[in-house]
Amino acid sequence: RLVSLPCTPPSKRYNSNLANPFTSQVAVVTGGTRGIGLAIAERFVNHGATIIVLSRDSSRVASAVERLEAIDADGTFRTHKGYVCDVGEGMEVEQVFKDITASTQIDYLINAAGISRDDLLIQLKPNDLHETLRTNLMGTIHTCRAAAKAMLRRRKGVIRIRNFLIPVQRRHCCIINLSSVVGIQGHVGQTIYSATKAGVIGFSKSLSKELGSRNVRVNVLAPGFIQTDMTSGIPDDKRAAWLKRITMSRFGTPDEVAHAAVFLATAEYITGQVLVVDGGLNL
Ligand code: NDP
Repeated sequence: RLVSLPCTPPSKRYNSNLANPFTSQVAVVTGGTRGIGLAIAERFVNHGATIIVLSRDSSRVASAVERLEAIDADGTFRTHKGYVCDVGEGMEVEQVFKDITASTQIDYLINAAGISRDDLLIQLKPNDLHETLRTNLMGTIHTCRAAAKAMLRRRKGVIRIRNFLIPVQRRHCCIINLSSVVGIQGHVGQTIYSATKAGVIGFSKSLSKELGSRNVRVNVLAPGFIQTDMTSGIPDDKRAAWLKRITMSRFGTPDEVAHAAVFLATAEYITGQVLVVDGGLNL
């Protein structure tokens, strides 16, 4: 006769080590080689996670992994990894996630891969439209799909010891997708970019409803103006116009967004939400 034992009580499910909440956990960070993605990867490493970064450029992937290993000096012998992967290519993403899940579980997926091609709609080339949609929206969808499959498989586990069926400890999984304040408010010259970022919000809210009962949370970060390669080419007059609208009178740093990512990853009863990190833009 098979007897099902009760799950581990909620208070015991999660890693209660507040300094290193991600110990023994694995985070896949797309776009983890630069800017916000790299800052998130670094923060997660500092809190005990093992990181897998994805981006298109092999030398950037290699130097990001090297950098993560350099800051990971706590002697726990974590092996961070990187994959060259274009998130806009569904088959490529499937293959990479198959390879990842053959050797490890995925606890966190952070989708920071993104591009912006800014111009008035009538000036944008068809290829700009396609590339932005393909990377920002389809890229997020492809990776979430692949990661969700792996996360759901983990949630079903029971082990059998003699006549007892014991549920595997239900550690929570979490997806964080990068949107933008522009996806909420819109902005001149960013029609397609904001369409992709609004799409990320709708997609993430729906996905949170599909996965919530299985202990997989899905949330969105919506940064304002953050100083990275993406914003470095913005002309001075436009930067000044942005700055005037920011209550805190300064641009944000990638690490400030990473701080919010750690919060969302550890906030065990928050799902389907959009956390704006913009220093009070347009208040
Ligand atoms: P960066 O341009 O600094 O970095 C983008 C990252 O995405 C790089 O690692 C890049 O690596 C990777 N990437 C781009 N295209 C692809 C692709 N097709 N497949 C895989 N990786 C890809 O951008 P930020 O750090 O500034 O932005 C990170 C996220 O935050 C983006 O989604 C962006 O839209 C969003 N965001 C940024 C804001 C800002 O002010 N900076 C504001 C609001 C939102 P590689 O080139 O090697 O592929």
